[in-house]
Amino acid sequence: MIKFSLTCSNHHAFEAWFPDSDSFIDQRARGLVTCPHCNDAAVEKSIMAPNVRGGKRRGETDPAPLPSSSQKAPEQTPIPTAKPPETWGPEQVVAARQLLHAVRATVQKTHEDVGDKFAEEARAIHEGKKPDRGIHGKASKEQIGSLLDDGIEILPLPDPKLDS
Ligand SMILES: [Zn+2]
Repeated sequence: MIKFSLTCSNHHAFEAWFPDSDSFIDQRARGLVTCPHCNDAAVEKSIMAPNVRGGKRRGETDPAPLPSSSQKAPEQTPIPTAKPPETWGPEQVVAARQLLHAVRATVQKTHEDVGDKFAEEARAIHEGKKPDRGIHGKASKEQIGSLLDDGIEILPLPDPKLDS
């Protein structure tokens, strides 16, 4: 989870939590991020951490394989060491990539692979129509947004094709 400090076009300042910066960009693009004071959807990201300016996209890490998870960390837990990738050096990028590979390897061992049916399976589990279990698979950005909108907990991971 990332906390963004936001301002609306009427200069109200407020804060909101997002699973990652891509989620913020996606939700804002669809008018889902609104000012709690005046309901304005024309929000801008303001400075989100000391010495760091936001607003840059984080490259081509489009989320693709996704585990659904019932063992996610509690919401609204700030991660003190989380910094925007543009401030990372090569070592940190490598370390982060290795960590993500380890997470993905674990997920693939412990979660059932449902392939392209991820979105419908995750929704069915959420609605109690399928047995509650960990799954992973693929979903489009639209499907991810829709699942998040409905409060279904998913964790986007980088696509394996970005490994090399
Ligand atoms: Zn406002």
